[in-house]
Amino acid sequence: MERPRVSVCHRHVTVHEAMSANLSKTQAQRIASVLREFWGFDSLRPLQEQAISAALAHRDSLLVMPTGGGKSLCYQVPPLVDGYVDIVVSPLISLMKDQVDGLKEAGVPARALHSALTASERREIHQRIAAGELRLLFTSPERLLMDGFLDMLKGQKVCRFAIDEAHCISQWGHDFRPEYRQLATLRQHIPGCTLHAFTATATPRVRQDIAEQLQLNDPLVLVGDVDRANLVYRILPKVDAERQTLEVLSRHVDEAAIVYCISRKETESLAKWLTEHKVVAKAYNAGMDAADRHRIQEDFANEKLDVVVATVAFGMGIDRSNVRCVIHTGMPKSIEHYQQETGRAGRDGLEAECVLLYSAGDAIKWERIITQSAGEAADPGQWLRASMDLIHGMSHFASAPLCRHRALSEYFGQTYPKATCEACDVCLDEVDAVPDSTVLAQKIISCVVRAQQRFGVGQIVDILSGAQTENIRRYRHGELSTYGLLKELDKKQITALVYQLVDQKLLAREEGDYPILKLNAASVEILKGQREVKLAKVAAKAGKRTARGETDLQGVDAGLAAVLRKWRRDLALARGVPPYVIFPDTTLNALARIRPTNQRSLRLVSGVGERKAGQFGDALCREIAAYCRDRSLQSDVIANAPEPARPTRPAPVRPARESKSQVLDRVYDLFREGRTVPDVAATIDRALSTTCQYLVQFIYDTKPANVDPWVPPQVYKRVQREVAKASDFRLTPIFEAMNQEVPYEVIRIVLAHMKATGQLAGSVAESE
Ligand code: ADP
Repeated sequence: MERPRVSVCHRHVTVHEAMSANLSKTQAQRIASVLREFWGFDSLRPLQEQAISAALAHRDSLLVMPTGGGKSLCYQVPPLVDGYVDIVVSPLISLMKDQVDGLKEAGVPARALHSALTASERREIHQRIAAGELRLLFTSPERLLMDGFLDMLKGQKVCRFAIDEAHCISQWGHDFRPEYRQLATLRQHIPGCTLHAFTATATPRVRQDIAEQLQLNDPLVLVGDVDRANLVYRILPKVDAERQTLEVLSRHVDEAAIVYCISRKETESLAKWLTEHKVVAKAYNAGMDAADRHRIQEDFANEKLDVVVATVAFGMGIDRSNVRCVIHTGMPKSIEHYQQETGRAGRDGLEAECVLLYSAGDAIKWERIITQSAGEAADPGQWLRASMDLIHGMSHFASAPLCRHRALSEYFGQTYPKATCEACDVCLDEVDAVPDSTVLAQKIISCVVRAQQRFGVGQIVDILSGAQTENIRRYRHGELSTYGLLKELDKKQITALVYQLVDQKLLAREEGDYPILKLNAASVEILKGQREVKLAKVAAKAGKRTARGETDLQGVDAGLAAVLRKWRRDLALARGVPPYVIFPDTTLNALARIRPTNQRSLRLVSGVGERKAGQFGDALCREIAAYCRDRSLQSDVIANAPEPARPTRPAPVRPARESKSQVLDRVYDLFREGRTVPDVAATIDRALSTTCQYLVQFIYDTKPANVDPWVPPQVYKRVQREVAKASDFRLTPIFEAMNQEVPYEVIRIVLAHMKATGQLAGSVAESE
């Protein structure tokens, strides 16, 4: 088989740019209008366009994109463009159901065919396919390959199969499903059909395996940036898992969180402990009966339950897009697992936090589990070696104080372009080194020497902490000079420090049933004072700051966001769908920032498609209007809205060779007529942000008597009052002083006007 072509994409592709590549003008226009109509989106994300054009061109493809990257749109859009019925193969009923619910809400004719349907429901689906009324049919690989089903599809307008979660086909993936292997036979049943595989699992080995197993024919292989920029990673030494979990959760009150534990017992005890400490949490593990598990999944999806404490069994079926926090109380057994599990956070693209409580003891637990189960593998020796490598890789990742984003990208074979991510504990400078780390290390190592390199971690910790145990007495370790040398620390802390030395390979730990601590060359250098050591503080300060405030929530009215969340939950309940199917949190935040009270401004909000605007737009606008009225809050804050939908083609409205000064002339005329910013932006085909800058310039140049067409007088007065109190005219303090309720653009316009009309003596800082 020909090697697949690979394209790695790190940057955003505009619809404009990408469409010039492969698509006909009609297809490009159709995609733009489908996006707008059903999803309320203005542009495609990186690689979405290439994947969509491969499907429309009937070429096999494989798209690797991290969770939340937007894979679903790539198989949802093509049939709406060219009128085929596309079949989507999905491994779980819950995943199919969620997607179909979402598509139906958006007005897309989609159905799921699975074992839970009645005979008449199945009949109805067959009839709709025959009548050409469906665009998307979701089903499992088993059902698809059942006798007769593919024959039924013959002669229908069916020629594309999207294989979701395609890593299930690979035994190197996490969720190997043997049924997926038979999908390669699809082509024998429907000659000429094309296969389009989608996965978030990025290792080259899995990628190659998918292409080979599905026998993809000269596929277009698209590999997205593996980095999840919206996730903030933190790795803390595990000291007290319960309290540390509680502390992290306290930063996410009323938000969705998943807490992963290694064992079933831990899930139950931690959920109980959290509940006793006023965090409503439920345990979830494979040992529970199916009905209970199902109920917890549903409650979580429907936002009736926010915190689930689970084993990895709580996995693929979780489609809640606003999970704001994933905590691992134990180390996952590979970086692939870590990536997959943390990947369930922030699928909506908003910031989310991933905290791993790390102890090298967990690596040892995994080693034991793996060793015990090696006998079941086909080639135990090879399997054991591969599994151990994965465990050690994860352990090394967790203990090395290096940028987490960079380390993950590099592990998956990609280079990380930024010097600092500003989104992990290392880059946020939260990883404190223990003062006198080197002295501490010397104390620990000399204790190992005094104990004659014959004991394991437990006994060394007992000696250092001055414990009085049977073994201390038996070996007369109380007489050692290092006995009680670290008694000011508790045992958990000392254990964590010893393991840090082991992980950094500064102390050797033998393999076997009783792993003895020994010195290596590095330990000797430390003892001789020839080597400095950096040990991470055991109780690290966490959550100092994150990137969120500056990006996602700027200008979002928190009270309104809460009101809208309730409105969404009630509506979802009434319609029998999960809340994120109504609107994801990104859209909800945009609504709470822009506060539309009429259909016109509502349609400027990204994520509000025509169907949803029509169905519940009026009710939504009334809700927002009432909220703003009660609080004298500015509504329809369109100065800060995203760009309005602009046709990707045909050519822009402005004449081709219009110079900047000609544009400005035109803009000034429009502003003189009192036209609003979105109106002017649409007329001159410029971004709203650029148009706002023009407005500021217009105000400076023409000194209008007031800025009423762009800022309501009561808002103007409010900013004016704040400016009078401010010591300088930086935007952020003014923005903060008004509880983030007045957008930056509006403050900037008022400041410009005050300055232009001589109300301010000094100069206005506008750099923020
Ligand atoms: P994946 O399947 O890769 O995990 P999803 O398809 O669930 O990702 O998309 C994640 C989120 O991104 C969803 O909320 C989706 O609506 C949103 N999204 C996808 N494509 C776009 C786009 N072009 N513009 C805006 N939002 C998008």
